[in-house]
Amino acid sequence: MNQVTATSSGPMAAKVNLLDFDRQGLRDFFAQLGEKPYRAEQVMKWIYHDLEDNFENMTDVGKALRAKLTEACYIGAPNTLLDKAATDGTHKWLLGMDKGNAVETVYIPEPTRGTLCVSSQIGCALNCQFCSTGAQGFNRNLSTAEIIGQVWVAAKYLGNVTHQNRRITNVVMMGMGEPLANFENVVRAMKLMRDDLGFGLASKRVTLSTAGMVPLIDELSDAIDVSLAVSLHAANDELRTELVPLNKRYPIAELLAACQRWIARKPRTSITFEYTLMKGVNDQPEHARQLIKLMRKLPTCKVNLIPFNPFPGTRFERSDAGTIHEFQTQLLNAGVLTMLRRTRGDDIDAACGQLAGQVTDRTRRSAGLRKRQDEGTLHAI
Ligand code: SAH
Repeated sequence: MNQVTATSSGPMAAKVNLLDFDRQGLRDFFAQLGEKPYRAEQVMKWIYHDLEDNFENMTDVGKALRAKLTEACYIGAPNTLLDKAATDGTHKWLLGMDKGNAVETVYIPEPTRGTLCVSSQIGCALNCQFCSTGAQGFNRNLSTAEIIGQVWVAAKYLGNVTHQNRRITNVVMMGMGEPLANFENVVRAMKLMRDDLGFGLASKRVTLSTAGMVPLIDELSDAIDVSLAVSLHAANDELRTELVPLNKRYPIAELLAACQRWIARKPRTSITFEYTLMKGVNDQPEHARQLIKLMRKLPTCKVNLIPFNPFPGTRFERSDAGTIHEFQTQLLNAGVLTMLRRTRGDDIDAACGQLAGQVTDRTRRSAGLRKRQDEGTLHAI
């Protein structure tokens, strides 16, 4: 049975939010109401293909059932508190959750595709040193409805009214939070992204990015067919532990072994390794050599270089363009498929690692950041 969490936007906490159910969950819920499972699928189509949230407009659903549904449940996506467009077409939404919390969702249009970057948690507990969300501390996991609701809100805004003419072609779980730390809700939401009666995206077009929660990488490959991205950022344990503290628990050798198991189970897939380039920290020729050595163990995989995106209070700086170019060339010359991620939406703080939202921090991490900012020991670059 699905765990049901009412979102702040839900009309009444006692009612069930249908966005919390995947297809099977919806069928079960309709069965509980004494309705045939195909009715659940009819309503699912209204929700995700027509982006309809009012039962009264579901014209092929009988009047009696519409009344029953209105009594028992609702379709509640998060409220948009703010939306902002960047000069390059990138669009960011600030979506209200409960108790003054909010998360960010970003749409990145490109000539051949439109990618939505979705959040999985309010804040993040992992404390990666170079990430703005990490500095905010952690509040809680998002519910399934709050995750799939981000796609729903963006699709509706972008005019995704007909299923054939959708503008969101890809979804990446690369917004705020560590998606594997919110496993069940994220998997359920990704099922809705993939389902033909949901957003109907192919497995290559739904990507989960993790900082490396090793046991859950194995579980993910059993749970759902999606693409995997792994945030590496350093190819030696000492540096990686400094940048991504989770590395202490799951060091590089264990992470790589999990990636090899993933590939063994899905031989035709590849894994993308994200590597954020920070000036003087992990961008030297020696670091590239270490990365090349590591990538030899995963010959079908690729590297995605991300120029560091600054945020207020960070002690890191972006690597120079020349250094980035040399780093990429060194990898390419060694036969490692390496892409450079173009920075998008940085004029609205929508670039990778800049998503801050509004987090009531339960870990008290943000207090330290604020203190350092106040003392002037840290400043934006
Ligand atoms: N928790 C997940 C998703 C996070 S964000 C993960 O760690 O993969 C997606 C990517 O942006 C990650 O690779 C993350 O390490 C990277 N990132 C975080 N902060 C960044 C920054 N300031 N500049 C550039 N990339 C950043």
